[in-house]
Order: sequence, then structure tokens, then C-alpha cells
Amino acid sequence: MLSTMQDAPLSISQLLRHGSSVHGEQEVITWTGEESKRVSYAEVGRRCAKLAHALRGLGVTGDQRVGTFMWNNSEHLEAYLAIPSMGAVLHTLNIRLFPEQLVHVVNHAEDHVIIVDPTLIPLLGPRLPEFTTVKHIIVTGSDTSALQAPAGITVHSYEQLIAGESDVFEWPELDERTAAAMCYTSGTTGDPKGVVYSHRSIWLHSMQVCMTDGMALSQGDIALAIVPQFHAMSWGLPYAAFMIGASLLMPDRFLQPAPIADMIEAIKPTFAAAVPTIWQGLLLHLEDHKADISSLRSVVVGGSAVPPSVMHAFEERYGIPVLHAWGMTETSPLGSVAQCPAGVTGDEAWAYRYTQGRFPAGVEARLKDDDGNLVPHDGESVGELQVRGPWIAGGYYGVDSADKFDDGWLLTGDVGHITKDGFLTLTDRSKDIIKSGGEWISSVDLENSVMGHPDVLEAAVIGIPDEKWDERPLVAVVLRDGSSTTVQELQDFLAGKVAKWQLPENWARIQEVPKTSVGKFDKKRLRGQYQDGDLTVDRL
Ligand code: ADP
Repeated sequence: MLSTMQDAPLSISQLLRHGSSVHGEQEVITWTGEESKRVSYAEVGRRCAKLAHALRGLGVTGDQRVGTFMWNNSEHLEAYLAIPSMGAVLHTLNIRLFPEQLVHVVNHAEDHVIIVDPTLIPLLGPRLPEFTTVKHIIVTGSDTSALQAPAGITVHSYEQLIAGESDVFEWPELDERTAAAMCYTSGTTGDPKGVVYSHRSIWLHSMQVCMTDGMALSQGDIALAIVPQFHAMSWGLPYAAFMIGASLLMPDRFLQPAPIADMIEAIKPTFAAAVPTIWQGLLLHLEDHKADISSLRSVVVGGSAVPPSVMHAFEERYGIPVLHAWGMTETSPLGSVAQCPAGVTGDEAWAYRYTQGRFPAGVEARLKDDDGNLVPHDGESVGELQVRGPWIAGGYYGVDSADKFDDGWLLTGDVGHITKDGFLTLTDRSKDIIKSGGEWISSVDLENSVMGHPDVLEAAVIGIPDEKWDERPLVAVVLRDGSSTTVQELQDFLAGKVAKWQLPENWARIQEVPKTSVGKFDKKRLRGQYQDGDLTVDRL
């Protein structure tokens, strides 16, 4: 029997219409250095219509890909909404990819148009001759003089292009399963692979972002979206903000701790999202530079494990709760969120909040061991995490991806355990686990413990070959300027916090942990530095 319900497709144009009318007074606020530029959602709606007309004029009539090579700003929000709404496919390009990776993803996705911020022309411009399908470059603002395009590519200014266009657009009705946006993984563990989101997956994911037990983004929030729009869709915040009526504070290129502190003090966001390294940087900055960040009611942290010391510092120094979340480009990206169960308090509550969080109804999870057996969800047994659901990728664009799936479940490459009540604790990425004498050592646990030392700014742990144990952990540690703490003292500090056989005997003091294009610890590079003999290792 069929239902008697209407069959209305879920679409980005619906979010655009809703946000720009019902929530038309909300704003996207772009930080411009010392000040900000404000555009109401009503105006965003009108500018989206103009952009869609302009793109039609450039020959974007079907599901052509329109790339964006941009910071988080109001024009990028317009691209997020207009491109999928007109039936084309938004392709967010990671501005920090290596040049050959950038060329690969643009050509692989067959981008027809790319919108670029003027400040990013030096990165994109030199690659233009290598792009095989790009016909038009649109430079945001009014000045295109910084870009000389090769033959076959026309350069336009964003403002001139949309200036004469109508601010009303007849958004087409689309099948909700069609492609809306695509994002290539950042390639931490291999070549970038394209994940293609549908209108339906984005819609359902946006609802999860707004749910009280999701990220709890709410009407009237001002959400500081530090997590880049070119990385995992800025964790879904732009679409969710239009759905629920939250304003957005976009940091543009001002991502250092000082401007972030300034923009928080000036604009007073209530909600913010970023990877742990951003928050660690801000905490350090605030030690010597006073700034009022008390407007924040929630700080969402994910992308890599947040050290408990960072959660405590935010809460105890500033009264701001940190919400830990897990996800991947492939999971749209919201997978699990560590909202504490009702009625739990004190240390038990903290224990829940340290985890990577609880899976929502839309994300089914299971664990498998090395032999492919299911592992019980008993909060102890460890296995590789697999997930499935309506906003989880079922394949990668244009490549054979069978080896990344197990009977329809996405292999996450993450290893951990799950409690009976659905809370995930990741112990590692499968590639980062240290296999010592037949036992597994979690590099994340060691890092968190070392980073709990007051003199430690950053610590990354990798496995290095060992004749007796196969592998042993090496801790690469960044100490505060002027600190005289010795590695022996650090090892003593760990005693009692980790099992004795896990105590690392190999230590290297470094200036900075290398980071990936999206600010995560880059252990591949750290391993390379070790192999090349660039790390001075103290063996205790
Ligand atoms: P990449 O795989 O290139 O780093 P993603 O941003 O998609 O790109 O990264 C997803 C991965 O990030 C996850 O598979 C997991 O290993 C890691 N990750 C995300 N959130 C967390 C978290 N809260 N704790 C630990 N690891 C996390």
C-alpha cells in the first residue's frame, strides 16, 4: 500500500526559499580584518537568483560542476545555495591541496566554471593551463586585473556578472536523489576521492545538525563557521543555518588566533565549530591577550580527537562547553555527537563527553575485527568502525570503490569501541595504531595524556620500527617557549596514566607538529621526517 502523503522532494532550493523569506533578517557576517560585511539572508536570496542567471549565461544548464576556490564568506554561501538550487553541482575545492592534487580533482570532476577569491588567485592562477574542462573563472569582487587567463578561459568579475541580472529565479524542481554538491576527501591517507552529496542527503543531514541531540544549532544563533567550506561542507553549517534561521559569522582568510579572538569579541557568536588545533591556538593566545569570548554557548570540536585538557580549559576558564563530534567527508560529515545522556552528572558526564559521541538514528554503526567478525558493542571490544545511513556515502565519484565498502557499509578506517547505549570511542585510525609485541597501543590516548601536561603545546605519536617489539611509540612533542621540562619528566608524568608497557621511551622535541591541509596532525609527514633522519630522538 502506498502512503497518502505528498511526495515533495527535499531540495536545496527549498532551504534557500525558506531561509531567505522566513529568516530573511538573519545575516551572513564576513570578517574583513578589522570590521565585518553584513548581508541579510533576504539579500542572499536575491543575489543567489542573480548568480543563477549569470551561470546560465555562462552555459551552466544541466548538472555541470561549478567549482569554488574560496574562503568562508558571503559569496561562498551564495554559491552553496544557488548552484545546487539551479540543478548544477557545487564542487568545493580545497585551497590547500598540493598543486597536482588540485589539477587532478578539477579535471576529474570536470569543472566548467570556478569561482575564486582574489586573494587566492596566486594559488589557482598558475594551474589554469592544466585544467582541461574549465571555461570560465569568476573572481569575487569587482577587480579581475590580478588574473591573466590562458586562451579558452574567460575571466569575469562576480559583481559585474550578476549586476544586471534579475533577482528572481524560477528554481527547477529536481529529483531529491540528484547530485547537489561534491567534495573530495583531503587525502590524509591517500589520493583525494570525490564524495557526491544529494539534495536529500544534505536536507536530512541539516536536520541532524539542528537537532537538540545533534549539534543543536538553533534559531537566533550566530554560528562562527571556522571549519572551511572547502572541507566537509563546513560540517553542514551553511545549509543548517538557512534551515533553522541562524546567522553565520564567516572568518574569510582570518584564521589565526588573534583575529578569531577579535571577531568573537566584536560579533559575539553563540556557536562555533573547528578542529582542535584552532581551539588550542585560541586558548594559548588568550593566556596573554584578553578577549571576551563569553558569548559562545557551545563550541563544537571534531575532525580529530579533542584532548580532554582542551575541553576542561574552555569550561573551567571561560564557562564554555565543548561538544565533541566525529565525522568524515563521507558522512556529510556528522556521524556522532557527544551530548551527555539526560540525568548524568559529574565525572560520569565528562566520561561521556570525552567520547566521539553517540550515533543518531540516521547513522547505523558496527565494528569488525581483523578477521571480519562482528565485535560486540560492550564499550571495550575494539574493531574497525563501519557505518551506513541516508547521509553516508555509498561510493566515490568515478572510481571503483568496492574495497572501501563491506556489503554496503562504509569502511571508515577508524578503530574503536562502542557502548551498549551507542557511544563511540575511537582509539585510532587503523593506519596509526602502534602494534607493539602483539598488543595495540592507541596513539590518540598517548597524545591526549602527554597534552595534559601544562608545558606541552602539542604532541603527536607515531609507531617506529623496533627489533624486539616490532613497533614502539615515538612522541614528537612541542613544548612552551622557555620550558625546561625534560623528556624524562614527561615520561614520569605519564606513569600511572597509561599502562606501563605503553610508556613511550622514544621522544623527539620539535618546533611544530606538521599539519594536513585542514589542520589535522599529519602523521604521514611526521613518519617521513623520522625516516629521513630529520627528528632528533632521545631514547630513555
Ligand atoms: P581526511 O580523511 O582526509 O582526514 P576527513 O576530514 O574526512 O578527511 O577526516 C575524517 C577522519 O577524521 C575520520 O575518519 C577520523 O579518523 C578523523 N576524525 C574525525 N573526527 C574525529 C574525532 N572526533 N576524533 C578522532 N578522529 C576524528
